Amino acid sequence: MRITGAFQDITARKQAALELERLNATLSELSYQDALTGLGNRRLFDDTLQAEWARHARQGAALSLLMVDVDYFKRFNDRHGHQAGDECLKRVAGVLREALWRSHERAMRYGGEEFAILLPETTREGARLVGQRMLDAVAAARIAHGASPLGAWVTLSIGVACIAPSMEAKPASLTRRADMALYQAKAQGRAGLVVEDMPP
Ligand code: GH3
Ligand code: MG
Ligand code: MG
Repeated sequence: MRITGAFQDITARKQAALELERLNATLSELSYQDALTGLGNRRLFDDTLQAEWARHARQGAALSLLMVDVDYFKRFNDRHGHQAGDECLKRVAGVLREALWRSHERAMRYGGEEFAILLPETTREGARLVGQRMLDAVAAARIAHGASPLGAWVTLSIGVACIAPSMEAKPASLTRRADMALYQAKAQGRAGLVVEDMPP
């Protein structure tokens, strides 16, 4: 009787531990997920960048980053309403997700109407191709924008940066460079892509 009881006790404890593990996995999954789009969130981006930075520094490989921003999105909200704006962000998220062909690559919501895509072991030319594919895909999706000076559909601006990470440099340097490229894409008229021209 006592032995059986002990076994039951161990089984129960083991089950509780398994349950906790499962719950933790779910929670950590949710805590990395953007509720609106279902993409990874800013936290996942920060943690992934940190990990990829270290891995690429060890391997001496090139790491690329795309910063994607919806053009004239404030006007979109003003014209179509905030709820339609949310739907638009979901559709853009879907477009970006489908434009990525490698299973380990994923689009993440960086914040607001901005998305970030980390491309491991990818040169700037490779990153440019992915960015161009995203521009083509969003054009093909024909998401109506009733207040864009650029035309009838939602467009994106994309900043691309590529870097050879080192332990001395900070991961934030990649984000900063992609941000600067995005700023240039906006300044050049939007609905396009700028690849930063610094050496990787
Ligand atoms: P630009 O072409 O220079 O990118 O201009 P913009 O209007 O897209 O950029 P701005 O930063 O002026 O406006 C971004 C807008 O995005 C303002 C904000 O209300 C809206 N926004 C941010 N997050 C959300 C969201 O989750 N849902 C909706 N509907 N709107 C959002
Ligand atoms: Mg923005
Ligand atoms: Mg914008």
